[in-house]
Amino acid sequence: MSVRVRFAPSPTGNVHIGNIRAAVFNWLFARHEGGRFLLRVEDTDLERSTPEAIKTLLECMEWLKLDYDEPAVYQSANTVRHLAVASELEAKGYAYRDNKGGEGECLIFRMPKEGTLRFHDLVKGDLKKKAEDTQDFVIVRSDGTPVFHLANVVDDADMGITHVIRGDDHVENTFKHIEIFKAMGVEPPAYAHLPMIVNNQGKPYSKRDGAAFVGEFREQGFLPDALFNFLVLLGWAPGDDREIMTRQELIEAFSLDHVKSSPARFDIKKLTWMNGEYIAKQPREEYKKEFIARMQAAGLQTTPLNGDLDAVLDPIQPRTKTYKDIPGNCIYLFTDDFPYDEAPVNKRLKKDGVAELLREFADKFEALPEFTVEATEKLVKDKGEKLGGMGAVVHPIRVAVSGVGEGPGLFELLALIGRDRVCARCRKAAEMAG
Ligand code: GLU
Repeated sequence: MSVRVRFAPSPTGNVHIGNIRAAVFNWLFARHEGGRFLLRVEDTDLERSTPEAIKTLLECMEWLKLDYDEPAVYQSANTVRHLAVASELEAKGYAYRDNKGGEGECLIFRMPKEGTLRFHDLVKGDLKKKAEDTQDFVIVRSDGTPVFHLANVVDDADMGITHVIRGDDHVENTFKHIEIFKAMGVEPPAYAHLPMIVNNQGKPYSKRDGAAFVGEFREQGFLPDALFNFLVLLGWAPGDDREIMTRQELIEAFSLDHVKSSPARFDIKKLTWMNGEYIAKQPREEYKKEFIARMQAAGLQTTPLNGDLDAVLDPIQPRTKTYKDIPGNCIYLFTDDFPYDEAPVNKRLKKDGVAELLREFADKFEALPEFTVEATEKLVKDKGEKLGGMGAVVHPIRVAVSGVGEGPGLFELLALIGRDRVCARCRKAAEMAG
């Protein structure tokens, strides 16, 4: 039996990471098994599934390189087929008409009334529910439109889906879905319900907790490969201590056996760290393109003050965590008119002796025969020894010349900024300090 899985989102205009995580797991499973990964757009809610919402969905899939192996299926195109199955179910006695709640006549699916409903979930193990705890449910509304449960199952049957991998908010539905499969005389697929994604408090992760939609991560400058890698680890681990893995490594290692049933905590710090690792390894030309785009979007120059963009990017690229940080972290290398961050100014500059220290170093830097990494380092070290630590010199100078508290190694940074500017900035900051 060759594996056929699908991602079956209901487009709403935003793609939640919990949904796309299901796509990632399906995609990896198909690729690992040499099976097929399909896309079915569950677009029957015509108010929400607008052409723009569908476009957003397809763009997210493309951005994450979740390619699918057959033309996308649009559920709304299958309504006639859904209703034909509904009629068959009615003819065979699996469904009946009823005026539910006085809202007009609906078609209702009959659930078993006795015994226990069971299914084996590939993640959660054996699940069961007493028939008496289930209820008959609507499969065709009084306006003649098929309900999710019916459309979802009929399409899975028609598409020959072998494994349904989806979020565990669907576990309860699965008891219903299996009964529809049986009534249709179709063998139900295997099911794997993925653990819920939760915030630090263990509650379902939502947009109140921070970025929750794929588009937001893209906007903030996360790389698709980093987000992909991170999403795989939300509920799955390779069984060893690897975390950063290429697509190929993930395809080879992925199996449903290692999917965890306990909730997966969304840790933005981990994603940010991972993203930094991916950015550090990015080809320079790709990074440069994004760098320039972000600088331009912030209304900044793209030629650095020293005229050598590559020399600037050498220490900046490996320190970039997300693209959105680029303008704020680099502006001082592109213009003399850069802001000073309040926190490092208060912590590093507004201290006794700092104004004198900065003036002293402006003079010392000016007097150096050559303004090299070695020469500035020696000056700072000598002074640091007298003051009982290099930090007392390094931090104020860094803030003075860059306006921020973090960045490339100080001596490399001084060389990038150049002697004249370093001296001028030290003197200017001395005014702020004093
Ligand atoms: N459209 C449903 C959802 O997005 C489908 C779930 C599924 O069967 O995968 O929740």
